[in-house]
Amino acid sequence: MEVKIYLPLSSPTVGAIGKTGLWRVFKPVIDQEKCTKCLQCWLFCPDASIKRAEDDSVSVDYEYCKGCGICSDVCPVGAIEMVKEG
Ligand code: SF4
Ligand code: SF4
Repeated sequence: MEVKIYLPLSSPTVGAIGKTGLWRVFKPVIDQEKCTKCLQCWLFCPDASIKRAEDDSVSVDYEYCKGCGICSDVCPVGAIEMVKEG
């Protein structure tokens, strides 16, 4: 008998107070030249705010990113810098 396992995937959505990226103090900035497309940031972002393209390149959804810095911490090549919001 075949057993299928479904992972609980969720995606960012507008919260009760609107787009929650407004909470952010620091924002992650990805250096695409350094990025090796390992997808660690995509995997570990607690807000599903790292967007993954078909070619596995990554970008940040600033409408929902909270600026927690986890993506920057887990990036093995230091390709994500946390920059203070201006
Ligand atoms: S700073 Fe936090 S919320 Fe924003 S993309 Fe990185 S891990 Fe996700
Ligand atoms: S963790 Fe770093 S190297 Fe890996 S995909 Fe994200 S930005 Fe690129």
